[in-house]
Amino acid sequence: MEIWVKRDDLIHPQISGNKWRKLKYNIEIAKKEGYTKILTFGGAFSNHIYATAAAGQILGLHTIGIIRGERVEPLNSTLAFAESVGMELHFIDRETYRQKNSQDQLGSYQKSFSPVYIIPEGGANSSGVKGCEEIVGEIQIPFNYICCACGTGTTLSGIINSLSPFQKAIGFPVLKGGEFLHDEIVKQLKCPKISNFHLETDYHFGGYAKWNAELESFTDRFEKVNLFRLEPVYTGKLFYGLYDLIKKGYFPKGSRIVAVHTGGLR
Ligand SMILES: *Cc1c(COP(=O)(O)O)cnc(C)c1O
Repeated sequence: MEIWVKRDDLIHPQISGNKWRKLKYNIEIAKKEGYTKILTFGGAFSNHIYATAAAGQILGLHTIGIIRGERVEPLNSTLAFAESVGMELHFIDRETYRQKNSQDQLGSYQKSFSPVYIIPEGGANSSGVKGCEEIVGEIQIPFNYICCACGTGTTLSGIINSLSPFQKAIGFPVLKGGEFLHDEIVKQLKCPKISNFHLETDYHFGGYAKWNAELESFTDRFEKVNLFRLEPVYTGKLFYGLYDLIKKGYFPKGSRIVAVHTGGLR
């Protein structure tokens, strides 16, 4: 059996991994349509907020971050970075944040910041999926399985859209109760009847941004052996789950597995 790693964490030091992929076409459209302002959403530790802020500075776009929860001083490193590169931060309560995709709220953001190009939380729209469809074409070796960590499932959707019929994708949701992602992913598929993917929902370690000593010692050992890093929120859970499936004999002998390193390190 072989595991190969697609190193999307090396795409860019600040706009890393799948965040670059998901922003690519969103920003291209925004620029083409003449927008100079981009608004998006995220929690206080959001890699998407961090990447969008960095992209805005590099490309000369004004960025607005709608952040879940109250402003806490001093800002954590994600938000401090975002603000330092020019992102305008607005904090909203959790209840309001939950309604962020409603027509009402989107309309009010359009009005307050007009004209503004709005990207959903996590870059989870069809342009985000389109960017992630380019991952598979860059892999120049034949493979049987491809695996990635899932937050919104946007990255996995793009991957599935580019697979050949004999290849299979496995997603590792990092949230508790990740089963709900199945339907979200199917909505983004070009060919929704194809069931060439499934989700392994037992590797969330208690939920988003939660982990324990076992996962920490796994990522430490992994780094010593493989000389590149994982983080415990996404890629740590992916590789832990993948190694566990291998141990349990999930993959047939001779399988070639590609694991996508979606970034998240800084
Ligand atoms: C955001 C993120 C993900 C989740 O990607 P989705 O497309 O939302 O499923 C995975 N890995 C890393 C490192 C991330 O930052």
